[in-house]
Amino acid sequence: MAIRTRFAPSPTGPLHLGHAYSAFLAHDMARANDGTFLVRIEDIDQSRARPKWEDQIYDDLSWLGLSWDEPVVRQSTRSPAYKDALTKLWADGVLFPCDCTRRDISEAVSAPQENETAIGPDGLIYPGTCRHHAPLHPNLPMPDNMALRLFMSRAITRLREDLPLDFNERIFGNTSTVRIDESYLASIIGDIVLSRRDMGTSYHLSVVLDDAAQGITDVVRGEDLFEATKIHVVLQRLLGLATPTYHHHRLIRDDAGKRLAKRNDARAIRTYRDAGASPADIRQMVGLSA
Ligand code: GLU
Repeated sequence: MAIRTRFAPSPTGPLHLGHAYSAFLAHDMARANDGTFLVRIEDIDQSRARPKWEDQIYDDLSWLGLSWDEPVVRQSTRSPAYKDALTKLWADGVLFPCDCTRRDISEAVSAPQENETAIGPDGLIYPGTCRHHAPLHPNLPMPDNMALRLFMSRAITRLREDLPLDFNERIFGNTSTVRIDESYLASIIGDIVLSRRDMGTSYHLSVVLDDAAQGITDVVRGEDLFEATKIHVVLQRLLGLATPTYHHHRLIRDDAGKRLAKRNDARAIRTYRDAGASPADIRQMVGLSA
């Protein structure tokens, strides 16, 4: 099967060296295998996305010598597809509406009888407060004024025959299988939010649907998303979508060893460009040969 990779930045700040590394790896993998490289703009969070950052992304990528093979897809145009997937999950009985605030959740998880360090790949592990809102009958209409959470114990029942779930991880040509067992699903991932009242779909659901719609075979991204990938695999299985191969790469860090953030302008590609660096210099800075 021909390889299809993508670089999927959020237009919420300047691209920095870490983004360049990710984009180079995904691009080079496609080019080395006669595959296809795509750029997707992850602007689902419209409160933070800005056109000026999107323009800067295209400009920086072109300057780095990266070209993409199909028109850019933006998540902000994909709401109908996200809604269809939510409707399917709702009809399958694996969602429940939730009106908890962040504060409700943090108060509930820090109650003495609960585990105080209950943090999973999606933040605080949901304590289950609104689970009783789960529809008893799947034909009830899906509410659009509340967040929707995955009802993990029902999802586990539905996926029972596939458990444990696994996916392929490939690093430097070595492939290994990552296993996700039932106890991880139940106690570490838990009832994650798939749709927010103010934002439509969550990152997790949109990224899974976009990768599937774009036929991505190989997802190249930072190792900070390794645990989130486990959420993505659960969603792929629930929605009957293929699971790509994942390549979680090391993070590029600053001199103090901290991972780079969008606000870290000193490492922005634009800053290096302005200082006279060449694209080959950027490749070298992230440890790739020019
Ligand atoms: N949009 C995410 C970011 O900018 C990347 C998501 C992904 O690669 O799956 O960090």
